[in-house]
Amino acid sequence: MKYITEYRDREKANAIANRIVAVAKDQSMTIMEVCGTHTMALARFGIRQILPQNINLISGPGCPVCVTPNRYLDHAIALARQDNTIICTFGDMIKVPGSTSSLESERARGQDIRIVYSTLDALELARNNIDKEIIFLGVGFETTAPTIAASIDIASRQSISNYSVLCANKVVPPALLALLSGRTEIDGFILPGHVSTIIGSESYTPIFEKHPVACSIAGFEPSDMLEAIYELAVQISSGDPKLHNSYRRVVTANGNIKAKALLNRIFEASDAEWRGIGNIPESGLSIRDEFSSYDAAKKFNVTIEETVEPAGCRCGEILTGNIKPADCPLFGNNCTPSHPIGACMVSSEGTCAAHFKYGS
Ligand code: SF4
Repeated sequence: MKYITEYRDREKANAIANRIVAVAKDQSMTIMEVCGTHTMALARFGIRQILPQNINLISGPGCPVCVTPNRYLDHAIALARQDNTIICTFGDMIKVPGSTSSLESERARGQDIRIVYSTLDALELARNNIDKEIIFLGVGFETTAPTIAASIDIASRQSISNYSVLCANKVVPPALLALLSGRTEIDGFILPGHVSTIIGSESYTPIFEKHPVACSIAGFEPSDMLEAIYELAVQISSGDPKLHNSYRRVVTANGNIKAKALLNRIFEASDAEWRGIGNIPESGLSIRDEFSSYDAAKKFNVTIEETVEPAGCRCGEILTGNIKPADCPLFGNNCTPSHPIGACMVSSEGTCAAHFKYGS
């Protein structure tokens, strides 16, 4: 507890905020937090409210559920409608609306859709239900992907043949590149702490060399995030961008070597579709041919309905930082966490959900 308290000390946070004010002066700075956990933590701790108004914090595409396109959900729903099938998913996906249905609606209609807390739970279901196909919905970034890779590895070693993954895993660095080539003006990035723990700070070097922009990897406690913002303010005001690691107590230069090796053995890089951004080259993880019997997209031939985007939803612009939730006319009126229209209102890391819960 003492450990957490140290990073949540109000006086310490205010002192860092004062340093930010002194450095930023009246220079306008747009800083994007790339990670959905940061989006929620910034809102929860009221960080925006203690920053000067000339520092504009915008949210990026770092919520894996939010950036997963409708087509994937429609595919998952089509798989769920097969006989003798159990769909396993983390909780956030269940309420996300697809084109005409959601996993929650399908479950209400009798399809077997279960929330699990780990891929190991899904494997256990496969062992205990050998007459059924267990399909895990693989949605997440580099933080979640190793656990999915591990489940395929275990299934392969233990010859569990009724387990497969519908894979929509994504990696963060190519998305940064896409954002830097897009229309959003971004002066600096708060880089994701969890993802960086796996991939290591050096993974961003090729992007930084191509597009030098202020960067700082941050943890998730108030003083972690404020220290990172201070570092960015220093870089932006001095015109001297750097690839900085403010989360050195966790993130190393090379990351988690074991997790990266596992990812590389099970997955290969592939182009992937991101809600709001479109296709980003090499931004997805596909299951290697060697493990294709665990790839639900290849294992089952289902008809997927035509994809329809929710009318009026502006998740795409939210996910690229072009607008803020309050700019969407549906925010808080037709679209709320109990009646979400878009994915950004569903996920516990969604920008619209964070602004609804904690205020803009
Ligand atoms: S408020 Fe709802 S409808 Fe509007 S962008 Fe957010 S999720 Fe989409």
